[in-house]
Amino acid sequence: MNIISSSVCTMKTTTKMYLSVILSTLCIVFYQYQLSKANFVTLQRGDVFGGNNNIVTSDSRNINSIEVKESTKTPSLPPLYVITPTYRRPEQLAEITRLGYTLKHVPNIFWLVIEDATVATPLVTRQLKRIGVPFEHLVAPMPDRFKKRVVKPRGVSNRNRGLAWIRKNASDGVFYFADDDNTYDLEIFDQMRYTKKVSMWPVGLVTKYGLSSPIVRNGTIFGFYDGWIGGRKYPVDMAGFAVNVKFFQSRPKAIMPYHAGYEEDKFLRSLAPLNITEIELLASNCTEILTWHTQTKKNPVASPLDMHKYNGTNLVNLHKLIV
Ligand code: UDP
Ligand code: MN
Repeated sequence: MNIISSSVCTMKTTTKMYLSVILSTLCIVFYQYQLSKANFVTLQRGDVFGGNNNIVTSDSRNINSIEVKESTKTPSLPPLYVITPTYRRPEQLAEITRLGYTLKHVPNIFWLVIEDATVATPLVTRQLKRIGVPFEHLVAPMPDRFKKRVVKPRGVSNRNRGLAWIRKNASDGVFYFADDDNTYDLEIFDQMRYTKKVSMWPVGLVTKYGLSSPIVRNGTIFGFYDGWIGGRKYPVDMAGFAVNVKFFQSRPKAIMPYHAGYEEDKFLRSLAPLNITEIELLASNCTEILTWHTQTKKNPVASPLDMHKYNGTNLVNLHKLIV
């Protein structure tokens, strides 16, 4: 009886040992698996948000931080060139600041800020440096003959200057016309970056319809929804499309004409041949609004400062900052 019970005990101990070993092994395997999974997720975030910010590094919790850091260095993201026309007015610095800090969240970006002016405004250059997004500050004044018109082709000289810069300096990636007064969800930059030819998506706050968008059914574009069609082939807003650089380089005549209201249409037409079915539909097949044609309230030019009253005060300095 004693022998039997002792052998049962021994068996139990042996079984326990085996079980412990198996359990430990399983734990180690499971832990390793979790580690590799955590790292994979981090790398994916790095691909989307990485590049010029440290989200991934600070989130790496000491897990393979070297690999994670290496991954953020990989120039896997196609470069994104953002062309922004701007001009001197009371709102200019505010607009540039707001847009600049949006763009600061976007990795692998190059910001072409082009002023409708003969000389670049030093305050704008200073602000661009302060924001810290890689940029080039260029000038391209609107030709005098258009300045007299009631409806002016706004931002056209600037955008064409941007296009000329792209022609000369860029060989791959994607470009996008981002006016200084619009609103941009960061998601759209992640999406437009992979444009093969031309991509499009809806823009909010356009005309009395409240939005401008390609019309999509079963994943296929078959027209455009916009409060003003005006005989346009592409009745879209400037904020609603992006173009691949290589594709643009293969269209040496592509240009934006000085035709108020028809800038987008005629520019897109100048990219021919381009079949409408080749247009890549972003923002979940054009079911989301990720950009808005916001527009800003126009402010009057500031009244002059009474120097008899305020000379020697901070107001003299402040007045040098405003229009
Ligand atoms: N713009 C410009 N020169 C002008 C008027 C406008 O460079 O004389 C720029 C402006 O900063 C903006 C773009 O062109 O980035 C479109 O102008 P605006 O926002 O006035 O036009 P809207 O959005 O009302 O069509
Ligand atoms: Mn605008």
